[in-house]
Amino acid sequence: MSKIELEIPKSALAIGAHPDDSEFGCSGTIAKWAKAGCEVHYLLLTSGDKGTEDPDADPAELRRVREAEQVAAAEVLGVKSCIFMRLNDGELEYSLALRGQIVRYIRQLKPETILSWDPLTRNYRMHPDHRVCGQLALDAAFPAAMMPLSYPEQLKEEGLSVHRAKRLLLYGTDQPDYYVDISDVMELKFASFQAHASQFTFDEKFAERMRQRHRDYALDFDFEYAEAFKLVEL
Ligand SMILES: [Zn+2]
Repeated sequence: MSKIELEIPKSALAIGAHPDDSEFGCSGTIAKWAKAGCEVHYLLLTSGDKGTEDPDADPAELRRVREAEQVAAAEVLGVKSCIFMRLNDGELEYSLALRGQIVRYIRQLKPETILSWDPLTRNYRMHPDHRVCGQLALDAAFPAAMMPLSYPEQLKEEGLSVHRAKRLLLYGTDQPDYYVDISDVMELKFASFQAHASQFTFDEKFAERMRQRHRDYALDFDFEYAEAFKLVEL
């Protein structure tokens, strides 16, 4: 059964593999929530330092540009902070150590809702970083962040406490069952896209493609534009 968003969380953490992931996946939802007083943070696993077709590009410079673009997009949406982990773009690997670092941020920020990629979608063209990012987000939230014997040094030595998020919303999914009405914030979503000038040109053609995508998500409902997620209740 598909659900329409019923409540806006008080806090949220959007975990993306690259700058612009959250803008494509969930920026309407984030803008709507932030406007309503939700405290939203961004966690970026990489800074997108391979996001170019120019073979002579300098990855360090690209990282700097893309972090600045991400911060600008986040400001437009009302996001409170961007945390950059600066792992190498295109090289994300699942590890217990990396999972532990994400657990630490979840225990620090204590988000009610976590947004990230659906790692189990049957999209064979999926960027491997997206798949790894989604799996890490899921596994960090459940059960690691809530179990005191998982990464216990964070509790004993760093003064953190366990945290159980209420739910995850996974984007890029082929099994959406949770829809957020973003009709009132489409302009903010578009403005957040415009911040990523190194990645794409936001022209009318792009805007119409986005309008169509989010109209299609809202087909069954009485509002115009939606973002679509796989809901995972914890
Ligand atoms: Zn990406």
